[in-house]
Amino acid sequence: MNAAPDDWLDSLRAGLEADIKPLGDRHTDDRIPLDMLPQLVKMLRGHGYPADDDAPDEVAGALASEELARVFPSLEGCLMVSHACARYIAAVGTPELCDRAVSGLLGGTKIGCLASTEPDHGSNNAAMETRAVPDGDEYVINGRKRWISNADPSDYAVVLCRVAAENEPEEIRPIIVERERSPYRTADLPKLGLTAFVTSEMVFEDCRVPRENCVGREGPLRNLQLVFRTLQWARCRMAVVSLGIARAALEASVAYARKRQQFGRRIGEFQLIQDKIYTMAAEIDASRLLIHRALTSIQENRRSDREASMAKAYATEMAVRVASDAIQIHGANGLSPDYPLERYFRDARALTIAEGTTEIHKLVVARSVLGLSAFR
Ligand SMILES: Cc1cc2nc3c(=O)[nH]c(=O)nc-3n(C[C@H](O)[C@H](O)[C@H](O)COP(=O)(O)OP(=O)(O)OC[C@H]3O[C@@H](n4cnc5c(N)ncnc54)[C@H](O)[C@@H]3O)c2cc1C
Repeated sequence: MNAAPDDWLDSLRAGLEADIKPLGDRHTDDRIPLDMLPQLVKMLRGHGYPADDDAPDEVAGALASEELARVFPSLEGCLMVSHACARYIAAVGTPELCDRAVSGLLGGTKIGCLASTEPDHGSNNAAMETRAVPDGDEYVINGRKRWISNADPSDYAVVLCRVAAENEPEEIRPIIVERERSPYRTADLPKLGLTAFVTSEMVFEDCRVPRENCVGREGPLRNLQLVFRTLQWARCRMAVVSLGIARAALEASVAYARKRQQFGRRIGEFQLIQDKIYTMAAEIDASRLLIHRALTSIQENRRSDREASMAKAYATEMAVRVASDAIQIHGANGLSPDYPLERYFRDARALTIAEGTTEIHKLVVARSVLGLSAFR
């Protein structure tokens, strides 16, 4: 990006407000119109939204994503998960697979997902049951995944499986599944918030995947480390979605508090309302700083699990508090679907569970601070 940071961010914000916000306000309870994604990505890039290949600056990417999440959080979630899938494939995939998948995933012509959660194994994903068994030049996958973002429209899936290779101990490995070549079934799972950002069940029945999609370029052990890095990045970027929602809720509250009159004064003049505005603004800024610290650490290839978990837990809980206070500032109007506040609250609520629950991230941070683990 050539322009100074504020220039491109201002231009991006103005473009998103004009072109994407109306879409975000309209597609609240139905799916993102996926056939429009390539055009939307082009439009976003035109406004300064970085493509991973030309702007690997993580903080710039997070600033741009915050702006998109502010106007259409489900769209930012959908693009982010596809980008995470592209990053993983670019890091481990064979050159042929990268050629087929990566630019389409980044450009919005292909959709990707990351599948770990199962019906009986969520937080404790080390106990997962989905299995991949080697058979000649292929692995055969059987199992079910649940609550997987983007799964239904996905073309590519990075699926964590229990792999039992001959003469080797069983271990969990990521496997890249190309849906066209190795079909899997999906079914939507409706939820409270982020309803345009589809989550689904995935069913793998004798799904045959070429061996190189499991081994990759550098071998399984390194692949698992790369999947952890991808997940840390995705956690930070999920926190950015919360940040965008919280910003939208604060901005709506400021506009309302400046206008709404009670007792002959604007409600923004009351100190109890000002206290809420202070807390919302301070918590939003604190979240942004935690997220940028974690993303900088990831960009510098440092161990970042503590930073990513702290940013994810703090920012997603913050957005629930901010959206709730924004409803309070709007009085009964805050509960009405004629205003966007109840949608912000529902959207924010979904994010304390996605990409690992707040409780699990607190345990990760506390383990790092205390040196004692709650996990067995
Ligand atoms: C919007 C959304 C998008 C998602 N996208 C994806 C995706 O793309 N890919 C994917 O793989 N998954 C995805 N998920 C699933 C998500 O990762 C899981 O829901 C999450 O990890 C929790 O698993 P669970 O729902 O099975 O809850 P459980 O693990 O059953 O937990 C239930 C409750 O117990 C608590 N708990 C569990 N263990 C402990 C413990 N040791 N100490 C204290 N409390 C504990 C949890 O915090 C939670 O409150 C998504 C979920 C949502 C809501």
